[in-house]
Amino acid sequence: MRSSTSRRAVWWLRRDLRLDDNPALLAAADEGPVLALFVLDDALRSPSGPVRLAFLYRCLRDLDERLSGRLCVRAGRPDEVVPAVAREVGADVVHIAADHGPYGRDRDDRVARALAADGRELRRTGSAYAVAPGRVTSSEGTSYRVFTPFYRAWKEHGWRAPAAGAADPDWLDPRSLPGSGAAIPADPDLEGTRLPAAGEAAARERLRAFLRDSLAGYARHRDEPAAEVTSRLSPYLKWGCVHPRTVLHELHQAVTATSDGRGGSRGESGGGSESPGDLSGAAEKFRSEVAWREFYADVLAAHPSSARSDFSDTLATMAHEPPGDAFEAWKRGRTGYPVVDAGMRQLLAEGWVHNRIRMIEASFVCKDLHVHWTHGARWYLERLVDGDLASNNHGWQWTAGTGTDAAPYFRVFNPVSQGRRFDPEGEYIRRWVPELRGLPAGEVHEPWKRPGGPPDGYPLPVVDHAAERREALDRYEQARKSGGHRGD
Ligand SMILES: Cc1cc2nc3c(=O)[nH]c(=O)nc-3n(C[C@H](O)[C@H](O)[C@H](O)COP(=O)(O)OP(=O)(O)OC[C@H]3O[C@@H](n4cnc5c(N)ncnc54)[C@H](O)[C@@H]3O)c2cc1C
Repeated sequence: MRSSTSRRAVWWLRRDLRLDDNPALLAAADEGPVLALFVLDDALRSPSGPVRLAFLYRCLRDLDERLSGRLCVRAGRPDEVVPAVAREVGADVVHIAADHGPYGRDRDDRVARALAADGRELRRTGSAYAVAPGRVTSSEGTSYRVFTPFYRAWKEHGWRAPAAGAADPDWLDPRSLPGSGAAIPADPDLEGTRLPAAGEAAARERLRAFLRDSLAGYARHRDEPAAEVTSRLSPYLKWGCVHPRTVLHELHQAVTATSDGRGGSRGESGGGSESPGDLSGAAEKFRSEVAWREFYADVLAAHPSSARSDFSDTLATMAHEPPGDAFEAWKRGRTGYPVVDAGMRQLLAEGWVHNRIRMIEASFVCKDLHVHWTHGARWYLERLVDGDLASNNHGWQWTAGTGTDAAPYFRVFNPVSQGRRFDPEGEYIRRWVPELRGLPAGEVHEPWKRPGGPPDGYPLPVVDHAAERREALDRYEQARKSGGHRGD
């Protein structure tokens, strides 16, 4: 893997905290001894929240251990730290995986200019996606605004196999620089949130366990929060502990092995045994979910302002309420709507929430409380271990009706019927809302209807859903009449 020249290279990691399937690392190792660098950048740390930071620090500690204590960690502005480290080790080239987010792109341009001023180069190899944002375009050469045609084009485009060449410690620069792994900060106070195991090995184990135990039931049960059949890979994908290309490859292998009859009996959650045909249906569903992550990154790369403001101006004149007491009650899981509260308590306890529940939460904030999606999105980013600007803010916008796919604003999630439909026995609610553990399925979704009201100090609903639904639809009509719609 190493060339005969003895130049040194810096491998600057950001969202690719792994040694396997890492083209930027392999490109660096081709130059000569590699210095692995992580920069603690306050512009990214400040909005991250304790949960995501703690997970990041744990991933960095794991990586430092795998690098025998030779991960160089420095705090400061990347456009100052990266050129300084390159100078210290005499590296001509700094290798990175391209970042397509609004901040990351600007930051990397600044670092590239600072390095160039010093006669050095920033070289981008690969990205955090199976297909780099910007690669898949419509026949007019524009980026997609709707998922289904994107997904078709994305599959047609295809992706590379995982990068060959396992990382081998022999490429490491033997010197340790000041600012080693010991500079990784201690975990911030997690306020009781329990995190998943961090690091690359944990990510691969999660992927293996998902493919072995849950994939078969994925298509049928993925919308049931109590079933626990989704992969929970999102925190690992967020930090690049595993690359989506590896995930897609392993998925393909799992399905092929089964249809070849080599897969043996496959574990299954929440249903009878599945045939290979079913498994390929489940794999297709899972692949499409991975593609949503790619789609939102693509949309954000093409429309950077959609991170903070409405992607579509359909509802530009919509009236919103400032976040008040009911919004605070939502943040703490005390709205009086059991499925909403269960989700928010899961968020506080695990830093992760099931996708169906995220949609119910977002609908509640936007359509029952009439609070602008940006407020809910910000709280999610503060508490999520997988918090990702593209997936989060576009997930919120999709539900608010301002995002991609023209999700109709008048689709208002009813928290009671959503609970009944996706958690019919109330298992998920009872798991997260101890006050409701004693209630039977017939009462758990509407505890305020019991003769004595809700049990054990559980609150009455902070709003009347039926009334707020009408209010949301009125506001929608007003916004449409006043001409915010641009017709796309
Ligand atoms: C309001 C809202 C906010 C969200 N915020 C985030 C976020 O900050 N970070 C994040 O990674 N995902 C976010 N999502 C998407 C989705 O909820 C999570 O990716 C998913 O719940 C993670 O669980 P999993 O890994 O078990 O998913 P699985 O069902 O196992 O899916 C596998 C992978 O596909 C991707 N994926 C699945 N569903 C989506 C989706 N709807 N949009 C984008 N990618 C998806 C994720 O990378 C996920 O890990 C949000 C969705 C909504 C509705």
